[in-house]
Amino acid sequence: MKKIIILMGVPGSGKGTQAKKIAKKYNYGHISTGDLLRALDNNQSADPEDKKKLAEMKAGRLVADDLIYKLAFREMDGYLDAGRGVVLDGAIRNVEQAKKYQEYFVGKKLKDEVLAIEVALSDGSSYNRLTKRKVCPVCGFILPYSPENELKMDCPECNAKLIVRADDNPETIKKRIIEQGNQAIKPILDYYAGLGLLFKVDGEPAIKEVEREIERVIDNQELVISDE
Ligand SMILES: [Zn+2]
Repeated sequence: MKKIIILMGVPGSGKGTQAKKIAKKYNYGHISTGDLLRALDNNQSADPEDKKKLAEMKAGRLVADDLIYKLAFREMDGYLDAGRGVVLDGAIRNVEQAKKYQEYFVGKKLKDEVLAIEVALSDGSSYNRLTKRKVCPVCGFILPYSPENELKMDCPECNAKLIVRADDNPETIKKRIIEQGNQAIKPILDYYAGLGLLFKVDGEPAIKEVEREIERVIDNQELVISDE
């Protein structure tokens, strides 16, 4: 199986949940730039230059791509040099970044180890899931929207009361779908399709079912999509 698995999808597609499951199942490193930035934020002994860039990013004055590359590549070096694979989750937001990551993989002689998987979901489903999903304020568990889950009030992991997240209001979500929806990710998907690395699974069914499909792609690399 391939060493580099890149999961892509619109908000609410479940790619974060799936990335964690895959990383655990195959003992791969889970690379989430959101997590890396949070870790930097909490690290008192981090490089002051990095902390300064992070502060500027948080203030909205700068998108420090170089900082994100530095953190992500250093994290990946650790896993790859130890012979393990990595799962990238939400790390790539545009084609320029996709190319930078690809250069990194080529530099690591892992050009033929890249597998990009789209967890496909319509913008309409994305909207429905984001407005109706619940999260656990204690352990971070995300309960996706489904008619049966709508009645659930308690976290299945830790029993805390689930909440609808504060940023999950309709206006914020509409904005997120414009910025990160199907239109926005299409050029990135096209880039990977052009390299012959793109596979696609249907993200509409239940989490378990999507997980099985993703594993099938990882294990067999079927379901090739090349016509989009
Ligand atoms: Zn919980």
